[in-house]
Amino acid sequence: MLKMKGVNKVYTTDMIETHALREFDLSVESGEFVTVTGPSGSGKTTFLNIAGLLETATSGSYELDGVDILGLSDSQRSVLRNQKVGFIFQGFNLIPDLNLFDNVDVPLRYRGLSAKERKARIEEALARVGLAARAKHVPSQLSGGQQQRVAIARALAGKPKFLLADEPTGNLDSLMARQVMELLEEINTEGTTIVMVTHDPELAARSKRNIQIVDGQVCDMNSYSVSSTSI
Ligand code: ADP
Ligand code: ADP
Repeated sequence: MLKMKGVNKVYTTDMIETHALREFDLSVESGEFVTVTGPSGSGKTTFLNIAGLLETATSGSYELDGVDILGLSDSQRSVLRNQKVGFIFQGFNLIPDLNLFDNVDVPLRYRGLSAKERKARIEEALARVGLAARAKHVPSQLSGGQQQRVAIARALAGKPKFLLADEPTGNLDSLMARQVMELLEEINTEGTTIVMVTHDPELAARSKRNIQIVDGQVCDMNSYSVSSTSI
């Protein structure tokens, strides 16, 4: 599971402090699919980047899969990130000159796997997202929805426990967005914990749990609705 308590993140630029997260508390259990919504600038990306060990908190405690992140060095943190976390982004972040096979291989190259094991994982991941036949194509030959599926394959090839998605459907039309969401739901059912930032209220409404971040703090809509119905 993923557990943040009293997390603060302060950015200082030109002597101006921005509190991106304030006393931020959130627990996500293994197997959950959580969507995260909130106004622009409210701290969603900051939360996801800290959750995925891309950034560190200024203060507060964070535990990922039983490991206390505060006690880790930078290199221990990257090892843990490689083992546990996959990312997908709004802009897909594929390398334009590499074919799909090589794009999915990029993060695997840092994991000390044999070429044979990497090939097996890449083929399995591309098949999982329905793009096995396109392995030799480059990203520009695919639709946006297909490119995002390649990015999902790239994340899955690392066999992550946690898949963190920052507006993965933000550049897609509504049909492709729904298809990507359905794929993520299947992946969640197969056991991967997913946290997804989205601006799309329809997608947020589909998830079992939606949390809203406002002004760097979490407002758990589900617990809110439970307590408000009991009034
Ligand atoms: P980030 O989370 O990466 O800091 P923003 O939250 O500012 O970025 O917005 C990410 C993208 O979503 C931008 O391209 C922006 O135009 C778009 N966006 C922002 N608000 C909405 C909204 N309410 N509905 C749809 N798209 C939005
Ligand atoms: P969201 O994803 O909800 O749009 P962000 O997490 O991107 O919000 O940003 C939260 C706040 O932190 C914003 O006020 C933003 O301008 C600020 N911020 C984010 N990243 C940085 C940074 N690297 N340096 C300075 N301020 C930042």
